[in-house]
Amino acid sequence: VLRLENIQKSFGSNVVLDGIDLEIGKGQMVCLIGASGSGKSTLLRCMNLLEPIDDGAIWLDGQDISEPGLDPQPVRRRIGMVFQSFNLFPHMTAAENVMLAPRRAKGLSRDALKAPVSALFERFGLADRMDHYPDQLSGGQQQRVAIVRALAMEPEVMLFDEITSALDPELVGEVLDVLRALRMQGMTMVLATHEMGFARELADLVCFLDNGRILEAGTPSQIFETPEQDRTKSFLSRVL
Ligand code: ATP
Ligand code: MG
Repeated sequence: VLRLENIQKSFGSNVVLDGIDLEIGKGQMVCLIGASGSGKSTLLRCMNLLEPIDDGAIWLDGQDISEPGLDPQPVRRRIGMVFQSFNLFPHMTAAENVMLAPRRAKGLSRDALKAPVSALFERFGLADRMDHYPDQLSGGQQQRVAIVRALAMEPEVMLFDEITSALDPELVGEVLDVLRALRMQGMTMVLATHEMGFARELADLVCFLDNGRILEAGTPSQIFETPEQDRTKSFLSRVL
């Protein structure tokens, strides 16, 4: 579905991504792990065209989406993203937050969206929270609404950047449950995560980023049980 080829990205003289090659197949879950500053968020932002790349190419279903001058909006509709901070609009209810993008992008009316949006809330155990404002929701519920909001655009790929990092520990589980459900339903996903247990349980591919490179990539058992690189081993010994 998504293919990255030799992605290069610098901020000034700081080389943040240094030749990233990665292929994400349909229905796969790919986890990006690595130390703070290794480039995980930047890589996700490049995939979604939130950051322009300096060199290389990004292919979405055979289309080069990294061509200069290409309108990023249609691409962002096809690649949803959820962030650590939920970024819900505080003055809108959960349902209004979710309807906003489809109303604007697809010109759909509130009435037309009512059924599909209710179904999404239902699916993620939020049916009774649709008319609540963000400050009336727990952090876990807000993050689930943020996921629902991204799903409402019917993306082909979902990117998740440390979406449980800002949550109280007891709320992490309900958000991971949503990811688990999405994976079972065949959603193609890329996660930057510090949840090693989760990556181990569910990832098809785990990529260890180090200084803007994928130093090592493999199945969870390859990366977590038999890592080859010393830097991978020392990172894992610090976080596991
Ligand atoms: P963390 O685990 O802390 O989230 P990360 O792996 O997501 O880290 P990035 O946020 O991608 O790392 O940052 C990689 C490098 O790029 C860091 O050195 C950071 O300072 C730099 N960087 C990221 N965004 C910008 C920006 N907009 N302008 C300048 N430098 C940036
Ligand atoms: Mg980050």
